Amino acid sequence: MTGGRLQDHQRVDCLVIGGGPAGLTAALYLARFRLAVQVIDRGAGRAASIPRTRNYPGFPDGIIGHDLVQRIGEQAVRYGARIANAEVATVERAGDVFQCRTSNGLIEASAVILATGIRDIRPPIDDKLHDAALAARLIRYCPICDGFEVTGRRVAVMGCGAHAVREAIFIRSYTDDVTVLAWDGATVLDDAQRASLARAGITVVDGAVASARMLHDKLILATDCGELAFDAVYPALGAQVASRIAQDLGARVDDDGYLYVDEHQRTGVPRLYAIGDVVAGLNQISRAVGQAATAATALRNELLA
Ligand SMILES: Cc1cc2nc3c(=O)[nH]c(=O)nc-3n(C[C@H](O)[C@H](O)[C@H](O)COP(=O)(O)OP(=O)(O)OC[C@H]3O[C@@H](n4cnc5c(N)ncnc54)[C@H](O)[C@@H]3O)c2cc1C
Repeated sequence: MTGGRLQDHQRVDCLVIGGGPAGLTAALYLARFRLAVQVIDRGAGRAASIPRTRNYPGFPDGIIGHDLVQRIGEQAVRYGARIANAEVATVERAGDVFQCRTSNGLIEASAVILATGIRDIRPPIDDKLHDAALAARLIRYCPICDGFEVTGRRVAVMGCGAHAVREAIFIRSYTDDVTVLAWDGATVLDDAQRASLARAGITVVDGAVASARMLHDKLILATDCGELAFDAVYPALGAQVASRIAQDLGARVDDDGYLYVDEHQRTGVPRLYAIGDVVAGLNQISRAVGQAATAATALRNELLA
């Protein structure tokens, strides 16, 4: 990320909270509209964790997530956007202005674009092992993104209920060796879900997973049914949606905390927009950057009307 220091107190046309593909693309557009834009990002976003994305257009050999984020940031800075590494704690409305408290000072903004994303709920394994397995593509989080890469491989979906069933059946279109397993006990699946999995030829392992380790190019899980080796494991444990700042301002969310927006990415709170994974819908980079273009253009027209 192209980082900079935040001045103690500043006033901008737009504060963008979150510096993933969504927030940085919005900043690029706003800067090119000659508006004063500040991005605040605390780092460790989802895009930055992608070992190599292969479905984002324009990169036939794929691109490392961190490099993609870095490039969009550099492009935004070239046109005058400012980016700082910090965390936005609260945003309050004071008349026409948003007062944004960050870990690095106060910012006043005429408008706010929320691009804070989500955090995947990780399986309870040691952080170091998790990150090594993610980098080695043994743990994966997004079958829409990389299901193609597990074609014909031995794959596990770790989770329960409708989410795990949906994900397992999706992955089944790439490989006939799919197992659903629960990390910490009997898989919670009702009869109809078990029947759907059985019809799709998907194995269900009921029982605790005691430990995990990497061995060569496999992730080995010790379960009540013995040790099982997989080429890829997809946790399907849900996500924490980073929508609290918008909710505190009165924006509406669905049952999982994803924000509702209109066709211009407006949340319903005047001059508060939301883009990317934090918005209900498909969690993909292409959607995030498309929403960023829409939001930035609508905001430009609103501010300069
Ligand atoms: C392992 C993995 C692989 C994936 N592969 C692909 C793929 O191949 N293709 C694809 O299209 N999608 C892929 N995705 C999904 C993709 O990463 C997301 O759709 C995309 O990153 C969404 O962009 P975003 O800007 O909304 O969120 P993010 O990239 O998550 O960025 C959000 C940023 O906001 C910051 N933030 C949050 N709250 C605050 C705050 N209060 N103050 C300051 N900063 C804050 C976060 O720290 C983060 O840096 C993958 C996801 C994962 C986890």
